Amino acid sequence: MLSEKQALARLATIRDGVTKTIRDEYEQKAAPCSKCLTPGACCLDAHFVNVRISRLEAVAINTVVDSLPLGRATEIRERIDRTITEFDLRPDAEDANKFACPLFEKGIGCLVHDLAKPIPCIVHACYGSAADLPPSAITETAELAIDRLNTQTYGRPQPLMPIPLAIRSNKLV
Ligand code: SF4
Ligand code: SF4
Repeated sequence: MLSEKQALARLATIRDGVTKTIRDEYEQKAAPCSKCLTPGACCLDAHFVNVRISRLEAVAINTVVDSLPLGRATEIRERIDRTITEFDLRPDAEDANKFACPLFEKGIGCLVHDLAKPIPCIVHACYGSAADLPPSAITETAELAIDRLNTQTYGRPQPLMPIPLAIRSNKLV
């Protein structure tokens, strides 16, 4: 068993490993985000974004949101609540759970980029060719390791939920 604090440290190590692999071996083949004509389109496109995360990842995100000045954190939590309502996010819906991510801030980017970015978001970039895409095994291996961390921390596997729902559910625990 692991304490939540130990598990969060191991989660950060997993995230850092994936970030390094993507940066060193794949990202140079993708369009640079710094020159993107539609920054954030990848995070705000409600026909596309369907990232699901576990309880431990939600704890990491909530830690970042809680560290912000109170007014800012409240604003983001209200945006999370609005997103859940607007896109009718439900833990048991497999297909329709797409949303515009409330963690994207215009002019800043992903609010959890440095400390709590979910694995599919780390792996994502705009590649010109399918041959340049990072293999899905990178995401799958990291997500399996995170699943094990959740079990070691909370005593049983934790369900994956759309980002906004996972963040709010964790806050209510
Ligand atoms: S991933 Fe693609 S759409 Fe998103 S900011 Fe980068 S270049 Fe733009
Ligand atoms: S968590 Fe960050 S990178 Fe992922 S969809 Fe939300 S804003 Fe984009």
